[in-house]
Amino acid sequence: MTYDYDLLVIGAGSGGLAAAKRAASYGAKVGIIENDLVGGTCVVRGCVPKKLLVYASQFSHFYQDAVGYGWEAVKPKFHWSKLTEIVDTEVNRLSQLHTSFLDQSKVDLIRGQASFLDARTIIVNQGQGKTATPQTFTADRILIATGSEAILPKSPGIEYALTSRELFKLQEQPKRMAIIGGGYIGIEFAGIFNALGTEVIQIVRGDKILRGFDDDIRTHLQDAMHQRGIKILTESQVERLEKTVNGTVLSLIGDSAPPTVEVDAAVLFAIGRAPNTADLGLDLAGVAMTDRGAVAVNEWSQTTQPHIYAVGDVTNRANLTPIAIDEGRAFADTVFGNTPRAVNYANIPTAVFSQPEVASVGLSEDMARERQGQENVKIYRSIFRPLYHSLTGSTEKTLMKLVVDRQSDRVLGAHMVGKEAAEIIQSVAISLSKGATKQDFDNTMALHPSTAEEFVTMS
Ligand code: NDP
Repeated sequence: MTYDYDLLVIGAGSGGLAAAKRAASYGAKVGIIENDLVGGTCVVRGCVPKKLLVYASQFSHFYQDAVGYGWEAVKPKFHWSKLTEIVDTEVNRLSQLHTSFLDQSKVDLIRGQASFLDARTIIVNQGQGKTATPQTFTADRILIATGSEAILPKSPGIEYALTSRELFKLQEQPKRMAIIGGGYIGIEFAGIFNALGTEVIQIVRGDKILRGFDDDIRTHLQDAMHQRGIKILTESQVERLEKTVNGTVLSLIGDSAPPTVEVDAAVLFAIGRAPNTADLGLDLAGVAMTDRGAVAVNEWSQTTQPHIYAVGDVTNRANLTPIAIDEGRAFADTVFGNTPRAVNYANIPTAVFSQPEVASVGLSEDMARERQGQENVKIYRSIFRPLYHSLTGSTEKTLMKLVVDRQSDRVLGAHMVGKEAAEIIQSVAISLSKGATKQDFDNTMALHPSTAEEFVTMS
């Protein structure tokens, strides 16, 4: 049996692009189907534009901090529309760059909406309505890499809510904004808009933000965000949204929540993301899903249909860009490169680009105590005012923490809140993946004066 392609990839995001190019490098004939800009969530409406907004917003702190260093105070003016326009231009440039990489790799880009007709056939609808011109393609192997989309609850008035997708396209910077959710996206946008001068109210259903992170990190960041002027309402939930002449009114429930909160037409829901599986026709292909709506896969990213694979957020394993990329490459190495390898999910470093920044690798204190036993864990913690702030007048402190196994002395986790946390933790992650002990950290010469040196001088 001959097919149109050796591999058809559905979705040109981080995982799909990585898999397509790697498979093509082994000589496979590859096609990739995308109905939006090439690049996926991370490049088009996620990590990359978000980080640019973080950078943009941080200038407000630099202007303030500079005064402590002898600069005259200035009243800088910020233009939201100018920022979103240049970020949009940059996103388009990057998307075109990714398209040209596909071209260089001899991967066919097929534009349109894909769904399975059967286990070997994909139909692609190009255009909409009467102009639609469906095309079918067959493939020996198929990779599902369709990512995820923001979840919205069914609350009355939810049509007035925004997701992170729409935030990048906001016409005006809101003066007052509500953010629902205390996870990655909610925290990051709270920091961005707060630094840009928007009044931010964050509504969190639990008692603290960032569930799953080390408890000290959660408390420290929550206090720091509060100090920077973000109002965090904990144990509160939104019951309904209503439009008023002045903006949007949220009705809240929760013991400590005010009954209502009014903001501009800017209510961001960031309460998690769900795998993009709707309208894919997975049942026609015989691909099973998990009970949480993700494509079910084994350690090789293989679905219940042996020649169909899935990587990235659509599988809801560890939903981070570098993981999707590695899953895509591991799939291609295994299936087309004759070098079988499964992704190593241990010690994944992660950062929240909050203000101040958070980064972590390995086990939190609670996880370590649960896994190793209460008494078998030793904690090293350092909380200090960074040198940078000795002249700015800010009282914000940096927190750094090591979680160590008492018996083996192995470092099980490293956590930080403070400037450049992501950059520092990325390097620490190498030590953890090599099984470094606390003694190895101590034996490493400090680099002075730096913040990172604290990780090798803790006692
Ligand atoms: P997260 O899963 O990170 O956080 C969801 C938040 O919403 C939690 O605070 C959760 O509370 C709350 N929540 C969940 N359901 C409800 C509900 N029904 N009502 C009210 N609150 C609710 O999701 P995000 O949307 O912030 O981000 C999605 C994913 O995107 C992340 O998990 C991450 O994988 C990825 N991402 C990574 C980034 C990075 O690496 N820097 C940046 C942005 C996104 P509770 O804690 O109580 O469950």
